[in-house]
Amino acid sequence: MKKGTLLSPTDNRLIEILEKQKLDLVVRFLRKQEEVEAGKEFTNKILASLSDLFFLLTDGLQLVQANQEFYRILGYGNENGTNLSLADLVDDVEYDSIRLALEKGEFQNLETHLIDHQGTHIPITLKGSTYTSECGNILHMLIATDRSDFYSMMNRMHEAQEQLIHSVRLASLGEMAAGIGHELTQPLNAILLFSRNCLKVLEDPVKNKPMLEENLNIIVDRVNKASSIIRSLKSFGGKTIDEKAPVNVNAILTNILKFLQSQLTLSEVEIDLQLDTSLPLVLGQEVKLEQVFLNLIQNAIQAMGKTDQPRMSITTFLQSHIDPETLLEKPFVGIKVQDNGEGIDLDIQRKIFDPFFTTREVGTGMGLGLSIVDRIIRGLSGFIKVESPAGRGASFFIFLPPCANRSGNI
Ligand code: ADP
Repeated sequence: MKKGTLLSPTDNRLIEILEKQKLDLVVRFLRKQEEVEAGKEFTNKILASLSDLFFLLTDGLQLVQANQEFYRILGYGNENGTNLSLADLVDDVEYDSIRLALEKGEFQNLETHLIDHQGTHIPITLKGSTYTSECGNILHMLIATDRSDFYSMMNRMHEAQEQLIHSVRLASLGEMAAGIGHELTQPLNAILLFSRNCLKVLEDPVKNKPMLEENLNIIVDRVNKASSIIRSLKSFGGKTIDEKAPVNVNAILTNILKFLQSQLTLSEVEIDLQLDTSLPLVLGQEVKLEQVFLNLIQNAIQAMGKTDQPRMSITTFLQSHIDPETLLEKPFVGIKVQDNGEGIDLDIQRKIFDPFFTTREVGTGMGLGLSIVDRIIRGLSGFIKVESPAGRGASFFIFLPPCANRSGNI
């Protein structure tokens, strides 16, 4: 168009249309920007209200964005937060496992740790997913749930459980008191008798020297026996040690039976002991397994209270079984404690492992024995079963995984 030339009506119309389109575009752009801003504000509000730690990483695992909770829990200032990378936030091994998980695209509930600004490891469960932004950048979105409270609660529960096991152990001691009293009476009577003998022959100690010597030796022997009973009582009443080690199930059973000998004699229980001498060792805690067998044996003794000829058979064996954890068949060390007592009805069998379930008279049973037994056995990756065919007493089976290549021959 030449300078000074008047515009035709068509040109004016065209300019008008173009102006309108320009205005339209500006309005649409402004609206879009408003929407984006509102979206951003909305996302920021959501992120700020999250009780989880949210953080975004670049493809090179460099931190690009995180919510307030992330900075609050880990203690990094927002200003230097952007210099962080995943390598600053986790250990080397955990770094590799997160990187591998992210390479697969998405993962859930990865148990790991984040390192805070003071180097403290914070237990978390981590979810992650990877997506590509509109500009084609790869971003990894991670959400971590702080598990510190959960683990400290678990620790407190563990302590409470240890305390409970200890109390039940002391209660078992109480139940054994009658037998122990009987066991101690015998050496005490002997000491009394032989001391009196000594007093009698003291009038002529030279002539009676051999007799004095013999009586005094017997007294020393009986005192030693009484002390060994008290020693075993003390060690039994002591606190449990939590470390697992290869243990010999046959030896533990033999010890427990020695310990319960007087209670078994008083209750006139006949014992049939069949121990597989080629049994492998199991990984466990001796005191806890003592507690397990003690509970089962004492329950059996109680269940046979009204039986004419009480008989208990204790058998150990190696048997293949489906592992409830992996559902694969594998060998287990088995322990069976069978009695010919009152048995357990089917509807009761379902409840006996529940804490505080008892059929005993008020004040005689706490109903904690079997629930503790079950917990201990599961803690050792084993399991427990009960069988009670009508009128034929009860059998408790315990299955524990053997230690690899360790024999527990006794
Ligand atoms: P408690 O002995 O204090 O009752 P337990 O947890 O050891 O607590 O046992 C729970 C219940 O299981 C018992 O009250 C009893 O009914 C039943 N029970 C356990 N062992 C036997 C057994 N060998 N024969 C019959 N019943 C048993």
